[in-house]
This record gives sequence, structure tokens and C-alpha cells, in this order.
Amino acid sequence: ERIWTHQDPDYLPPEIDTSKPSIARVYDAFLGGKDNFAVDRAIAMEGMKHFPDGGGGARNNRAMLFRGVKFMTEQGIDQFLDVGSGLPTMDNTHSVAQRINPDARVVYVDNDPIVLAHARALLQTNDNTRVITADMREPEAIFQHPKVAGFLDFSRPIGLLLVAVVHHLGDDERPAELVDTYKARLAPGSFLQLTHFCSCAPEVRALEGVLLSMLGTGRARDLEEITRFFDGLELVEPGVVHLPEWRPEEPVERPLDLAGICIAGG
Ligand code: SAM
Repeated sequence: ERIWTHQDPDYLPPEIDTSKPSIARVYDAFLGGKDNFAVDRAIAMEGMKHFPDGGGGARNNRAMLFRGVKFMTEQGIDQFLDVGSGLPTMDNTHSVAQRINPDARVVYVDNDPIVLAHARALLQTNDNTRVITADMREPEAIFQHPKVAGFLDFSRPIGLLLVAVVHHLGDDERPAELVDTYKARLAPGSFLQLTHFCSCAPEVRALEGVLLSMLGTGRARDLEEITRFFDGLELVEPGVVHLPEWRPEEPVERPLDLAGICIAGG
């Protein structure tokens, strides 16, 4: 009988259920990653029947995440709380921030244990980056978490990332109030980066239908609703926009294609 160990590349920790899809792994499948299983790929494939460039939408989201982290680090932000961080992929929040400021601290938070399993291996030798398993719907548990409190200094500015995660909350979960709870904990000079699936085309709504029926989550909201998550904050130019329009570093091809309009943020 084969005895599996953590050193084995095919080892699966017992908390990873491969019979049910996971948001993090479906997103990884859209990104063309390898950390997903047949149940996850089935959803990505069904979604792409309605929205063939789902991968382009996910890549635009990652690209905007990095532009945002770069921007915040250049503004002097040296601590980040990345909630709903997802599986580590080609590039990640800590690598972008620490390329500019090696002392920048990053905490990754995700409620999917597979994220912890992968990130732990990646971060073994990085003292300035931590990862915890926690639910964004319980912000106090995150703030008080022994790996967060004392590591991030909430009396100083923080970069809070809620990137492609708030759309996993239903209206009944009061996402705007939840985002307000996070904002209330941030010291003046902090930043919020938030992106959200945007209901601006029938193809996006078709993809939303696939996600809601097969994954049980993934709501599109309109630009106005997404902008409201920033209420009470000063918006960095150009405001809340379709992602390729947010401080692009290369010329933007207009009109934006579907992959360009399916997610908005600021
Ligand atoms: N932020 C990354 C990005 O934009 O590339 C990953 C986004 S991925 C679409 C959404 C992530 O949010 C998944 O990894 C999922 O496990 C996580 N997530 C969903 N609901 C969550 C919750 N209630 N608490 C914490 N994480 C959650």
C-alpha cells in the first residue's frame, strides 16, 4: 500500500474535497492553471460555452490586481490584507508589493483550505507574508486572528484587497454593510481595492446563470452597485471602471471586448 506524504506531488490533504467544486479552483481553471479537478473544469467549460473568453476576464482581473498593488505600494502602503486571495498563481500580491518594497507585509485570507495548502508551500521562506483560513463574513475573526493582530498594524494605513470576492455574497448577506465594517477598521490613508463581476452584457448574465446554478455563487452587479461599495471613500482616478480602463500601462483597445467589460472595480 502506498503511504502518501506531504512531499508527494500528488498528495491531497484530507480537507480537500474533490467531489465538489470550489470557487478558488474554478477560477484557477478559468485562468488555465493546473490546481483544479474535473468538477471544477466542468463548470469553467460550461461557462465558456456562453462566455468563450472567461479566461480573458480572469486575466484582466489579475492584471488590475497587480496594477493596484503596485500603485498602493508606490503610495507608501507597506501592509496588505488580501481577503479572498485565491490560489497562488503566476504572480501574486506579495511578489508585486515586495518587488518594490521587500519589507511590505501581506496577509492572505481565504475560506478554502486548498489555498492554505498551496500557499504554505510557496511561502515557507517568506517572513513577511502569511496565509490564514478564515471567512470574509467574519471580519472580527480576521482582525483578531493571532497571525494577523500584531503582524499588521491597524493604526497605520493598510491596503485592503477585496478582489473578485464580494460577488460571492448574496444580497441577503448584506455585502455593502460587510464592506463598511472593513472600511471602519482602516486608518486614514488606507486604500480599498475592490473588483466585482459586472452585469453589463447578456453574455455575462449567461455566465452568471451557469455559476449560480453549478457553483451556487457568483453574482453580477451593475456599475452603480459596485461603485456604492466605495461610499465614504475618495476614489482614485479614474474611479470605478471596467478593469482594462483602470490606470492601464499599455494602450487600451476600444471598444472593450466582453473580457474587458465583465468585471469592474476601483
Ligand atoms: N482575489 C483573487 C483574484 O482576484 O485573483 C481570487 C479571486 S477568486 C474568484 C475568489 C476567492 O474568494 C476564492 O479563492 C474563494 O475561495 C474566496 N472566497 C469566496 N468566498 C469567501 C469567503 N466567504 N471568505 C473568504 N474567502 C472567500
